[in-house]
Amino acid sequence: MAASLRLRGAVSGLRYWSRRQRPAAYSLAAVCSRSMASKTPVGFIGLGNMGNPMAKNLMKHGYPLIIYDVFPDACKEFQDAGEQVVSSPADVAEKADRIITMLPTSINAIEAYSGANGILKKVKKGSLLIDSSTIDPAVSKELAKEVEKMGAVFMDAPVSGGVGAARSGNLTFMVGGVEDEFAAAQELLGCMGSNVVYCGAVGTGQAAKICNNMLLAISMIGTAETMNLGIRLGLDPKLLAKILNMSSGRCWSSDTYNPVPGVMDGVPSANNYQGGFGATLMAKDLGLAQDSATSTKSPILLGSQAHQIYRMMCAKGYSKKDFSSVFQFLREEESF
Ligand code: NAD
Repeated sequence: MAASLRLRGAVSGLRYWSRRQRPAAYSLAAVCSRSMASKTPVGFIGLGNMGNPMAKNLMKHGYPLIIYDVFPDACKEFQDAGEQVVSSPADVAEKADRIITMLPTSINAIEAYSGANGILKKVKKGSLLIDSSTIDPAVSKELAKEVEKMGAVFMDAPVSGGVGAARSGNLTFMVGGVEDEFAAAQELLGCMGSNVVYCGAVGTGQAAKICNNMLLAISMIGTAETMNLGIRLGLDPKLLAKILNMSSGRCWSSDTYNPVPGVMDGVPSANNYQGGFGATLMAKDLGLAQDSATSTKSPILLGSQAHQIYRMMCAKGYSKKDFSSVFQFLREEESF
């Protein structure tokens, strides 16, 4: 399936919209009645690290929710807040004609859509189904075909920004799908993110996301290596981070999400690498980049190396820790 992916061109010609930079007008002609009935219930499937704060932002904007997660405890606080919890994705589809899924992997997304009690079992014609999980672009395209057969619309809309941005409603959404439906998707995604970017046909949102995360992994490993070397050379980590952040080595991993405990507050490294973006999920995204690179014959020398490092971390007990724990992993290593 991945062979059909054309990464080149997928991220060109991006159409960009942000809360701060909203175009004077955008066509509402294509927005069907579901989005006009703006405060009708929205389905939300997958209430984990990201889905939980994203769903809460929809609540803050006044949307009633229909909730489902395979892990019932994840639904409890929504139930306590008066939202409706149901027992399968099919039940969500029966009660809501706009649904957002936020699931770990391609397999989970296939299960939620096409499983025995999946969304497709009861989806209503004209429904808008937005998948914000990071999955294989080829799977997004397959799901879109299945959804289309049922007379509904599928869009891939993976996110960048992490748990902090999910909480503050400042995620970046990379959206792939039929352009005429983009405004309908924006109405919901704009409640959870400050940037909503139209990338092109179904699957191109995933393509943009995979490219971003490959660069993030490489820059996080680079930051961790650099900080570890500086500390072993006798530098104070806070001082080194300050110098990097006013110099040409600065990046998101150094100035916003520093991997060294004690350098910053409010990031996973300050909390024994709990919460945040798990090393398993990063290994998964790098695997998607590897597959895409193979199918497009693209050299990703550092991306492949990053993939191996995160796979090794998962095998050595780091799978549940935030991906910035690569600093701790390197710290425990000594080369000759
Ligand atoms: P998570 O593991 O914390 O949460 C996923 C939730 O989905 C869990 O509550 C799980 O019980 C539920 N789930 C799994 N399979 C299900 C199914 N078939 N039906 C219903 N519920 C199901 O993951 P997360 O960190 O929230 O990440 C979700 C997605 O977002 C992933 O694809 C990840 O790569 C992406 N992402 C995560 C971050 C981050 O910082 N955590 C940032 C950007 C993108």
